[in-house]
Amino acid sequence: MKIKKIRLQEIKIPLKRKFVIASGSSEYSNNVLIKIITDEFIGYGEASPSLHVLGENTGAIQSIMPVLFEKIKDFDSNDIRGISRILKKIPNNYSAKAGIDLALYDLLGKELGSPLNKILGTSKVFMDTDITIGIMDDDEALILANEYISQGFRSLKIKVGTDLKRDIERVKKIREAVGEKIELRIDANQGYNFHQARDFINSVKNLDIEFIEQPMPYFALENISELRKDSPIPIMLDESLKNIRDLYEIINKRAADLINIKLMKTSGITDAISIAELARSYDIGIMVGCMSETSLGISAGMHFALAIDADYIDLDSHFNLQFDIAKIR
Ligand SMILES: [Mg+2]
Repeated sequence: MKIKKIRLQEIKIPLKRKFVIASGSSEYSNNVLIKIITDEFIGYGEASPSLHVLGENTGAIQSIMPVLFEKIKDFDSNDIRGISRILKKIPNNYSAKAGIDLALYDLLGKELGSPLNKILGTSKVFMDTDITIGIMDDDEALILANEYISQGFRSLKIKVGTDLKRDIERVKKIREAVGEKIELRIDANQGYNFHQARDFINSVKNLDIEFIEQPMPYFALENISELRKDSPIPIMLDESLKNIRDLYEIINKRAADLINIKLMKTSGITDAISIAELARSYDIGIMVGCMSETSLGISAGMHFALAIDADYIDLDSHFNLQFDIAKIR
């Protein structure tokens, strides 16, 4: 079907709980809903920008979108790879392109009358996600951890990276409170330097931590590789990875055991598949994560995660929204 029109709608949804991480804090999920219209269907996509990681906000998405649309209008909406290639000629604008890519996959699903997981090559329909505990007081973190466990979550991702001593204390207290059966993962969001990262890892190494995500700044691959050599806890990279070139760098520098693929960073599903394949061929584990998507973007992430048989998923942003624009069945 020929791509006829595009419609944008900014959405700003208050969070249930202010979200604080090492690189900043947010009280809203502020995204752009993208509708791509053909003669028969409307495909829905979502762009959830991150100013800190991707240099985009909703204003930037709204202003680049007519430029991107000009390149793809009148294309066949099923030519997703061709469109992705055309859009690559325009640098950056990762989440804006992701929004288009997601809308095209939605159109494809509607045209074929099939859920996306099947189109992407799997009949798997279920995976367990973790849920994130932001940076907060110990007492608050313990209450929240128990609340999440009583809701049925079995893995918690704990944010650290602002205050080494307090971070270590908080992680210890959470492990003590939740017992051995709950999986704990850590995300420092680039917050430590080499020595802090090493001290943190040494202090929590006996707490059965699955992995630590982005312990140092995204560009510090040499240092991260050095840290990884002796680390008893596997290292995952998130902010260091946006595209396949970044993954080559990470592989060359032996900087990661695992990567966190987010559709908003990889300009959507099309490139995320290539990144996942490359990671797999080097035995690098994969988590599929999210920015601040509603259920709409989260669903796309979920179908992608099922298709690549991700090792972990961290698709939880919609749980913290005061209201949602879609429902996950
Ligand atoms: Mg992360």
